[in-house]
Amino acid sequence: MPFPDLPDRLSDVRGRIAGAVARGGHGQSVTIVAVTKTHGADAVLAAWHAGLPDVGENRVQEALAKQVDVTLPVRWHLIGHLQRNKVRLLESFALVQSLDSERLAGEIDAFGRARGTPVDALVQVNVSGESTKGGYTPASLATTAEQLRVMTGVRIRGVMTMAPFDVPERVLRATFAGARETLTRLAEVGHPATELSMGMSNDYEIAIEEGATIVRLGTVLFGARPG
Ligand SMILES: *Cc1c(COP(=O)(O)O)cnc(C)c1O
Repeated sequence: MPFPDLPDRLSDVRGRIAGAVARGGHGQSVTIVAVTKTHGADAVLAAWHAGLPDVGENRVQEALAKQVDVTLPVRWHLIGHLQRNKVRLLESFALVQSLDSERLAGEIDAFGRARGTPVDALVQVNVSGESTKGGYTPASLATTAEQLRVMTGVRIRGVMTMAPFDVPERVLRATFAGARETLTRLAEVGHPATELSMGMSNDYEIAIEEGATIVRLGTVLFGARPG
C-alpha cells in the first residue's frame, strides 16, 4: 500500500489539532484538506481510505488528470491560482479557495450563472503584503465585498490565506488574525462566509489557535513532495 505511514501521521496531526483548538479557545471544528499536488492519484486514494475526503490541488490540469483515476466522491479543493480561461473546468471542484482578483471573480460569476448553480469560493487574502503572493489586500476588501455581493454566480464561503515562511511567531499570528478580521467583514456585509482556510504543515497549529476552520496539509501527511 502506498503511504503506509499516513494513518499514524494523521492520528498525530489530529491530536495536535485538538490541542490547538483547546488552546485557541475558538471552539471551531477543523477540516483537513489533504494536499496531494505533485503526488499521484494513489495519494488521493490513500487520503480517502485514511478518512480524509477533502483533497487540495493547486493546478487544475493536474487535478483533472487524477480525477480520471479516482472515481470516489472526493471533495476537490482548488488551492492555487486559476487562469481565467480555465474557469469552465471548475465543474469538478467542490470549493475554489483561490479567488484572488476581481477579473477572476467576474469570470467565475458568469460561469456559475450559466450553469445555474453558484460556485462556492473563498476569497484569497494577502495579509502580509508579500509581492510574491496573490490575493486581495485586506484594505481593498471593503469595496470587493460589496462587488462580490451582487454576483449571484459565486457564493463567498470564507477566506483563504498563506502566511510568510520563516517569520517569527508573532508575525504568523498577526497574519492569521488579519485574515480572521476579513472574514468578519465579509460576514458583516451579508456573505455566507464562515470558513477560514489557513495553516500548512509548518504553521497549522498556530493557525488553528487563531481560528482556522480549514488546514491545508501536504508534507506532514505524505512526507516530502516528489519533483
Ligand atoms: C502546497 C500547498 C499547501 C501544503 O503545503 P505543505 O507545507 O506541504 O503542508 C497548502 N496550501 C497551498 C496553497 C499549497 O500550495
